[in-house]
Parts: sequence; structure tokens; C-alpha cells
Amino acid sequence: MVYFAKFFVQPGATDVLSPDLPSIETRIPFLLATFAIIFLFEVAFPLFAYARRDRVRNIGRNLAITAVFVGVNLLLHPISPMAAQFSSDTHFGLSYWLGLSPLGQLALGIIGLDLFAYAAHVTLHKFGWMWRFHRMHHADRFVDVTTAFREHPGETLWRVGWHIAGVFAFGTPAWVLVTYLTLSALNAQLEHANFRLPEKLDWWLRLLFVTPNMHKVHHSRHLPETDNNYSNLFSIWDRLGRTYNPGPHFAELTYGLDGFDDEAKQSLNGLLKMPFMTGWGQTEAQSDESSANRTSKPSTASR
Ligand SMILES: [Zn+2]
Repeated sequence: MVYFAKFFVQPGATDVLSPDLPSIETRIPFLLATFAIIFLFEVAFPLFAYARRDRVRNIGRNLAITAVFVGVNLLLHPISPMAAQFSSDTHFGLSYWLGLSPLGQLALGIIGLDLFAYAAHVTLHKFGWMWRFHRMHHADRFVDVTTAFREHPGETLWRVGWHIAGVFAFGTPAWVLVTYLTLSALNAQLEHANFRLPEKLDWWLRLLFVTPNMHKVHHSRHLPETDNNYSNLFSIWDRLGRTYNPGPHFAELTYGLDGFDDEAKQSLNGLLKMPFMTGWGQTEAQSDESSANRTSKPSTASR
């Protein structure tokens, strides 16, 4: 958070234009600390009372996937800041063309990257091949804070591509990009957490932000709900894109994907190979159809 301090304490200083970035070695312990706090909150005030055996087993798997996620991110993390540096050096992108101040770049960068995160998430659901990568995240039957980073490396690559596109479209400096990614990771932990906000507070927050209650609808096992509430930080994208769903009552909400519940598919090995298993999640009738026509996209009816 050094750059925040510089930004607000020395608004006229020249180094505010190139604030120090918190390293990934700093951000990981920060996110681990927020993870631990949210986990304790879940234990104290759970939304759903999962059976202890199911919860412990699922946490083990999700933490193993999270370790893969962290490793992939450690490998890829220089790429999008390099794109931001290139954009800055060449003054390429909307913020440079408009001559925005650092504060303007911060606002445009956060809003623009969040719009692209919404678009990336929609494509993960609407393109058959991308859905195969994303279904690992949706196949979780016990959504909690450990679901936040249950993400296939193929999905991570796709999202990095969208970050780079957002950097060039909006002229996003590296410090704004890192700020957005940190906020996004923090919110990912919160919106998957197994606790429920009081409904009145949730209603007010939802006017602007994606809340834990709102994102839980997206993890519903039922398709009309799964294909709603794609937004990342700001709920406005779902309202503008007509994908906003206020959601079912929690008593009616079940998580996961039909056809993905068995232990082999939920194992670490099963999760990692999930994108490449053509017949998984299909009914027998769909399997027959797929055999007859290998180029057809997987049906969404079985989600
Ligand atoms: Zn999704």
C-alpha cells in the first residue's frame, strides 16, 4: 500500500507518477492474512452448515488447487505489468490520449479493467471451450473462501489476456493494474465466503458492488442463475448487460454442477483434466449426439 500513501500524502510530487509497486511477495502474505480472517469468520458465522468431513476434504482439494494457482500466477505475474510499462512508455491507451491525471487514471483503470473482467467472465460461460476450463470453479459443491482461487491454469491465461487488452485499451499504469488486481483478489475471497450479509446491508451495497449474497446466485446449480451475476467488483455491469439476478432464497440454493459430483472428478487430478474430458457432465443422450458430431459445442442444459 506504499503507492496509496504516496498518492495521497504527496499529491504534487513527481514520483507520484511512478509509485512503488508492492511486490508479489508482499501481496501474497496480505491475501493469506485476509484469507485467514475470512476463514475464522466462516467458522464463527456460517451461512451453510456443511458436514465436517465434506468440508475438510473439500478444503484440502481447494487449497491444493490454490497452490497451483499461486504457482501459475508467480510465473505469469510480470507479463501484464510489462504491458502496462510499454503502454506508459509509448503513451498508448485512453488515459494517455485524454491526458488524465493519476487520479483520473486510477478511476478509469479500475472501472475499465472491471468492465473487461465482466466480459472475460461472460466469454468463459458462452464459449464452449472456455466453459470447459471455467466449470472446475463451478463444480464446487461447498462454496466458501477456498473456492476463490479454484481456477484452472487455462482460465488464468485467458484472464491475463483480458488484463493486457484492458491495459492497452484504457492506458492503465502498472500501479493501477496492481491496485485493481489486489482489490479483485480480496473481493474474490469475500464474495465466495460462506457467510451471509444482513439483507438490508446487502441491498444497499449491491447498488454499486458485487456482494457475497449476489455472487452466490452465480454458483447455483440451476442454469438460469448460473448464467447471471457475472460482475467482478461493480454490480453495474450486470444491470447494464441485463444479466442481473436478485437470486433465490438461500434455502433453495444448491451449488455445483450436475454430472461432476463424483469423487474422481472432484480429485485434484480430475479437476485439472476436467477441460479435456469431452463426455463429462453430459447426459447419455448428449453423449450419443456428441459422438455423432464431435464439433458440436457442449450443451449448457446439463450445468
Ligand atoms: Zn462463472
